[in-house]
Amino acid sequence: MAEVFTHRERLFGRKMELHIAPEGLTLVGRGEKESVDFAPLDEISSVGRGPGNRKTSLTVSFKAERAAWTLNGVTASSADWLQALIEEERSASAKRGRPEYCQKMPVGRFSGVCASIMLAGDGHAAVDLVDFMLAQAILHGASDVHFDPFSDSIVVRFRLDGMLHDVAKLDAGIKPRLTTRLKVVSRLATFKRGVAQEGRAGLRMGSRTVDLRFSSLPTIHGEKVTVRIFDPAKGMFAIDEIGMNSEMSATFKSMLLKPQGTILLTGPSSSGKTTTMYASLNHLRENRKNLSSIATVEDPVEYDLQVVNQTQVNNAAGLTFASALRTVLRQDPEVIMIGEIRDKETADIAVQAGLTGHMILSTVHARSAAGVLLRMVDLGVEPYMLASSLSAVLSQRLVRMVCKSCVAEYAPTEEERAKFSIKGGDRFFIGKGCERCEHTGYSGRMGIFQLAPITDAMRELVLKNCSLSDLEAQFEREGILTMLDDGLVKAKAGVTTLEELTRVLG
Ligand SMILES: [Zn+2]
Repeated sequence: MAEVFTHRERLFGRKMELHIAPEGLTLVGRGEKESVDFAPLDEISSVGRGPGNRKTSLTVSFKAERAAWTLNGVTASSADWLQALIEEERSASAKRGRPEYCQKMPVGRFSGVCASIMLAGDGHAAVDLVDFMLAQAILHGASDVHFDPFSDSIVVRFRLDGMLHDVAKLDAGIKPRLTTRLKVVSRLATFKRGVAQEGRAGLRMGSRTVDLRFSSLPTIHGEKVTVRIFDPAKGMFAIDEIGMNSEMSATFKSMLLKPQGTILLTGPSSSGKTTTMYASLNHLRENRKNLSSIATVEDPVEYDLQVVNQTQVNNAAGLTFASALRTVLRQDPEVIMIGEIRDKETADIAVQAGLTGHMILSTVHARSAAGVLLRMVDLGVEPYMLASSLSAVLSQRLVRMVCKSCVAEYAPTEEERAKFSIKGGDRFFIGKGCERCEHTGYSGRMGIFQLAPITDAMRELVLKNCSLSDLEAQFEREGILTMLDDGLVKAKAGVTTLEELTRVLG
């Protein structure tokens, strides 16, 4: 094993450090204000070594610019080890083109592939396992991959359609190398353990680049690494593709195209709010005449939207939702998407902007669409400002869709009949489970929604400091469908199941 070796020098116009440690190799760049970038092995184009027996010199050349460092006094074993690491990286990038990495494989075959990778014993097992798992996760449309360390194993899990599934169990012996590999790929500091870290990487899949966000967290059995996948092929939808019925979709689109106002979305995390917001921005971009500019303030920016100015919140650097929003407003865009409203300052600016010629789209944490109005008042927004600015509230959840290959008719249980007030003639469906849906009975997800355009009667209620039940009663009087109403229509149409409605709506 190599010794810990640190070399400091100015490179690429800033202070850089090269760490060679038994766990791996990392290039660290220190910029202004202690911001640190990590660049792993693939930034290195070649390593040359000088003559020497016990001690030698190493010349490390970097791809990015014509820069090279000469490190003196490195032990021979350390030099060999670094050279082996570079070779491993080259072999990994060469292998990425192979069919087993580029074709979707049933989860049932993962164990076999992992075992054969481990058995090959060519020293590249960790590299091959990580590449294989990440490629398969993208091909299966997973939103996250978890590498969970336990005392005797590492369990790999995919989140598919919102649910975590164990897909492979790896021998604990691979743990340190696997963690190092994940950190190298994600540009995390390999030499830092015992601290939480976040990193990102782009993985090329065919003609597109999939964005991967990594986080590592120390646990008692080693570091747990999770990877969130942002696949541009999956991220963007049109309003008509997210699950709204045609009437709701038409209403929502007409609200979006109004010259000014505020539209607020609510729903727990992973309820598809971001997808709806991006679909809305896309709709505006394509359908609003003479639209000159759209701006967003997000945390994090999930997808790179073309022709939209996106700002990433950076609390550490003092760029909060509120401060970013104030700056964005000075540039006077017509449409502004704010990732989330969670404080009075942001809420006030958003509501004010919605009254002064801007279309504002944002999310608020609330239990229901009606709850959004009261939440905004709780945050400290003046009710009269809110009442004038707000144009619509939308509440949503994601339900899994029945697999089309194994759909079958289903007789609801007595409990379900009572719970959903099911009448005799209603038909329902489930997926029985097949090869195509990995025996889950489900494939893909869609939204269930409650959309409430704000009416004068609702405005008056807000001004009167009404209760949640008053507002809900008003929604009902105006014939606004609940998420349950919307879900039941979809269950009767065989698109989702009663089981899903129970899981998602409680
Ligand atoms: Zn199926």
